[in-house]
Amino acid sequence: MIDTHAHTYGKAFESDLDQVVSEARLVGVERVYLPNIDAASIAPMRDAHERFPGFFRMMMGLHPCSVDEDLEEQLGRVEQEWNVRAVDYCAVGEIGLDRYWRKDNTDVQMQVLDRQMDWAVERGLPVSVHCREAFDALFELFEHRKHLNKELPTGVIHCFTGQRSEAERCLDEGFHLGIGGVVTYPKAGLGEVLRGLPLERMVLETDSPYVSPVPYRGKPNRPAYLVPIAAALALAMDEDESRVREVTQRNALRVFEPPMSVKTSLA
Ligand SMILES: [Zn+2]
Repeated sequence: MIDTHAHTYGKAFESDLDQVVSEARLVGVERVYLPNIDAASIAPMRDAHERFPGFFRMMMGLHPCSVDEDLEEQLGRVEQEWNVRAVDYCAVGEIGLDRYWRKDNTDVQMQVLDRQMDWAVERGLPVSVHCREAFDALFELFEHRKHLNKELPTGVIHCFTGQRSEAERCLDEGFHLGIGGVVTYPKAGLGEVLRGLPLERMVLETDSPYVSPVPYRGKPNRPAYLVPIAAALALAMDEDESRVREVTQRNALRVFEPPMSVKTSLA
């Protein structure tokens, strides 16, 4: 299995990172993709990667919840990583729109997302997109880019929790859906939304340390918890668990390690 989105770095994981990695490997997690958050998370993310370079892969981007007063400084720091050490990063992320925490700066969030999508398109890299209560704005940005003849990047709508029509639109635009802990919540109804959609366009993720699946709610999430997520997705899709693990892993490699990449094979 591959965890396509986990913030498994920083203080919370410093002391038991060895254990987090070994228990993940033990249950069949072979690779974990680390999305960046802001200027302050770059060093801790790189530290975690340095400790387990074959297991972790890094993304670089500015999270929508970090779009604030110091935007130019934050975005400048992220852009500097792309200018100086682009080879270290396999995707632009975490980027996106969040209208759950903040509704008063959607325009700015859209501009920042647009600019980071440009970086992805220019470099031929995928994106990991956070979209919380903001599908209207996300689709508006898609239309805006098309209007300007600007390509959309490929990638993942991470922690997808939208409606059926939103899932279909994301697939139509070429994106994959990142399926996480929410698929294990009986009341969320995500399983019904996904049923019948192509498994070939889904990838697994934990969004560790957030969004812990049942039965680990209330505990910090970790990559080993992909197991109940894969099981819940299998149930929702009426598929074998082993097939869900296999297909989602293949999908993840196709999205994040395209053929021209030299880092294709699993360590
Ligand atoms: Zn995230």
